[in-house]
Amino acid sequence: MAFVVAKFGGTSVASPERIQMVARRLIASKQAGNQVVAVVSAMGKTTDELVGLAKALNEDPPAREMDMLLSTGEQVSMSLLAMAIQARGYKAKSFTGWQAGITTDRNYSRAKIEDIDADRIKREVERGAIVIVAGFQGLTEDGDITTLGRGGSDTTAVALAYGLGADVCEIYSDVDGVYTADPRVCPRAKKLDEICYDDMLELSSAGAGVLQARAVEFAKKYNVVIHSRSAFTDTPGTLIKEVTSMEQAVISGVAHDTSEVKVTIRDLKDQYGIASTVFSALAGNMVNVDMIIQNVSEEGHTDLTFTCPESDLERACETVERVLPQIGAREYVVDKNIAKVSLVGTGMKSSPGVAARAFTALAENQVNILLISTSPIRLSIVVEASQCANAVRCLHTAFDLDSDQVFEETQLSAEEIAAKMNKGR
Ligand code: ADP
Ligand code: ASP
Ligand code: MG
Repeated sequence: MAFVVAKFGGTSVASPERIQMVARRLIASKQAGNQVVAVVSAMGKTTDELVGLAKALNEDPPAREMDMLLSTGEQVSMSLLAMAIQARGYKAKSFTGWQAGITTDRNYSRAKIEDIDADRIKREVERGAIVIVAGFQGLTEDGDITTLGRGGSDTTAVALAYGLGADVCEIYSDVDGVYTADPRVCPRAKKLDEICYDDMLELSSAGAGVLQARAVEFAKKYNVVIHSRSAFTDTPGTLIKEVTSMEQAVISGVAHDTSEVKVTIRDLKDQYGIASTVFSALAGNMVNVDMIIQNVSEEGHTDLTFTCPESDLERACETVERVLPQIGAREYVVDKNIAKVSLVGTGMKSSPGVAARAFTALAENQVNILLISTSPIRLSIVVEASQCANAVRCLHTAFDLDSDQVFEETQLSAEEIAAKMNKGR
C-alpha cells in the first residue's frame, strides 16, 4: 500500500470522457490498496480562455481580480471529477487550494507557497475518500485568492505530496515522461528512465514545459520523488529524484523556449553606472531579465541587449523609454521573433569542447546565432524563431542523443511551437 498524489493536467481532464478515464485510473489505484489524492488542472484550454475574457474587458487586468478569475478553472474540473468517481460508487470529495490548507505570499499570478496544513485532506483520506484538490491556487494570510504561475498545478501536487508525506508524486500528462528534448519538436528524442533534480530544474527553467520549474525546485528542496508519466497509457515514465544510478551524461537534454523577446538599446554611453541605471530601473518595474550582452564600444558608445519574457515587454519598453535620456541613448529595438535553445547537463562542468561542438553543428545546419550565454551546466543560444526546431534537432543529433525510434505523434511547425509556448506566459 502506498500514499499517492496524482496530478492530471489540462489535456487529461479536457472532456467528460477524459475525466471518466481519470476517475477509472484513480479508482483502480484505490482498489490496489493505495491512499489517493488527486490534483487537477483546469479543463483543456480553460485558463487561456479566461485570460482572453479578461483582456477583452480590460487591457491590463488587475492582478488580484485575475487570480480570482483564473482560480475558477480548476474548481470546475475538481468537482466534475469528484462527481464522476461518486457515480461509480466510490467516496470522493473535492477541495479548493485554500480548503486544502495552502497558504501563499501576496504575489498574485506567481505566488509562492509559504505553508501547507494538510490535516483536513489527511483526515478525509483516512476516512476512505479519494480526495481531489484544485491545482494552481492558494490563499494569502489575509484571505485573498492567489495563483501559482502557469503550469502551477505541478507545484500544488509536489507541495501536497510533501505535506502529506506521500510515497510518490505522479504527474500525468500527454507525454509518457521526460524526453531528451520536446518529442513533438524533436521526434528522435529519447525517453529518460530517470533524471536528477538539478538537470530537470535546468531543463524546466530553460523551457521544457513537461514540468513547472518551481515544482522541481520544491521537490529538490524537500526530496519529493516525482514520477512523470502518461495519462493515457500504463507504461512507466521518468523518475525525477536526487541521485540517479545512471552515469552522468555530458548533455541530458535540449530545451527550447519561444516565450522571450530581445531588446537592444543602441548607441549608449560606455561608462560606469549605465548598466546599473538600466537594470535597476528594469528590476524596479518587475521586468525579469534573462540574458544580457554588451558589445565592444566604438568611440565611447556601445549597444546593450537583454532578453525578457514577452509578458514583461510592455513594462520593459516603458522603463527603457524612461531611462534613455539618462544613459545618453536615442533608440532601442525590440525583436519578438526569437527562440532560446539550451543544452543542459550536469556532466558539462567537467567536459571541455561542448560549445565548440554545438556551434559547429549549428554552422553545418546554417543556423545563425544571435546571442549566447553559459552557466556551468547549461549553454543557451538565441536564434530566429523559425530556426528553433532545426537548432534543437541538430544539437540533439550532434550530442548523440538521437533514439532509433521516432516519436509517433505529429511534429509541430514553428507557429505551433510558438502557440504551445504561449501557454506558459
Ligand atoms: P499538462 O497540461 O498536462 O500540464 P504540459 O503541456 O504542461 O502538460 O506538458 C506536457 C508537454 O510538455 C508535452 O506535450 C511536450 O510537448 C512538452 N515538453 C517539452 N519539453 C519536453 C520534454 N523534454 N519531455 C517531454 N515533454 C516535453
Ligand atoms: N490551469 C493552469 C495553467 O493553465 C495551471 C496548470 O495547468 O497547471 O497554467
Ligand atoms: Mg504542465
